[in-house]
Amino acid sequence: MLTDIKSFTVEELQARFQEWRQPTYRVAQLLEWLYVHRVISWDVMTNLPKALRQLLQENFALQTLELVRRQGSRDVTQKFLWKLSDQSMIESVLIPANPALYGEASDRHTLCVSTQVGCAYGCKFCASGLEGWKRNLRVDEIVEQVLAIERWHVSEEFKTEDAQPAVSRPSSSPTIPRLINNLVIMGMGEPLANYDNLLKALKILNAPWGGGIGARKITISTSGLAPQIRKLADEPLQFRLAISLHGATDEVRGKIMPVNRKYPLKELTAACEYYQQKKERMITFEYILIAGVNDSLDQVKPLAQLAHRLHAKVNLIPYNKVEDLDWERPSEEVQEAFLAALEKEDVTATLRREKGHDIDAACGQLRLKTERELAGKIIQ
Ligand code: SAH
Ligand code: SF4
Repeated sequence: MLTDIKSFTVEELQARFQEWRQPTYRVAQLLEWLYVHRVISWDVMTNLPKALRQLLQENFALQTLELVRRQGSRDVTQKFLWKLSDQSMIESVLIPANPALYGEASDRHTLCVSTQVGCAYGCKFCASGLEGWKRNLRVDEIVEQVLAIERWHVSEEFKTEDAQPAVSRPSSSPTIPRLINNLVIMGMGEPLANYDNLLKALKILNAPWGGGIGARKITISTSGLAPQIRKLADEPLQFRLAISLHGATDEVRGKIMPVNRKYPLKELTAACEYYQQKKERMITFEYILIAGVNDSLDQVKPLAQLAHRLHAKVNLIPYNKVEDLDWERPSEEVQEAFLAALEKEDVTATLRREKGHDIDAACGQLRLKTERELAGKIIQ
């Protein structure tokens, strides 16, 4: 099977074009079709000679993701369920500007992308891990989540009764404006368990010839793979790091996150310290509040200690109910009390309060629901 062209960096493409004795400017033309016009067919690349287009077609795939289902309305969070070429399904979540969360002011849209089909880490509260791990996403499948959403957005804007999506009319509307300027790698899967593909995809999405998204606008979330956090610290790009902490002691964390057995807090925080020193970048702790599990006030002091030591900010997220799982979110009073206690310890913390964002952090649920519905249909 051919590898998709969006899995390659400019250097790799230049090397290939050199082998083919093609001038270098042809690579720039190709990249413009892929990342500015964002086309999904070789035929429309009209300024490339036919023979070169033929060569490209014989050597590379040019695929996109198939939109299976979309949930949510325009001005709030929208979830996209995609089908991949092997029929697996993944999710991306598009979130309108929310400067308080990960980025800075003037954010336009944040996209939450998946990195794996399923997840092997089996956190007890999470829908993504419920049916285990299937496979890593390829580089192009990570990159395409951004491009496909931007194409979709344009085709929505241009929608009239008989109009075609803008992407298939490159001559009338050739440039796809960039919609996404913030990425959070918090969809389905454990990003750092697909390290090489993720890093390459992020290089492409960051490059000026590619996605053009600033590294400082990219947040990678991990359940705590300590060795990979150290490796990430040694990379030249300045990504932000979010740690899914969800417990400030090994006892509480270990109950809900099996990964804590492999990398207990001591090891995880030492890796975070290394990241912090190398990058001088603020780390974020994600802390889902789950009723009766990690919302008791005795977690506050150890959490504050960790936050101070690592100069970390804390994002408190009320648990999103997952079908089939018994966990519940605590009452608003309990959430507010936890936040107030953290603030009293001088920790910079936020609590996600918006009701409309209920589908936000619950990646994996739409896929689960759809797969179950499909299975149901087959059984009936
Ligand atoms: N595997 C990575 C990234 C994907 S999960 C990680 O664990 O960090 C993205 C975030 O969503 C994590 O912080 C995860 O703990 C959180 N999450 C998972 N299920 C959730 C739920 N039902 N409600 C709220 N947050 C959830
Ligand atoms: Fe995997 Fe993250 Fe879900 Fe844990 S929280 S099962 S690491 S996706």
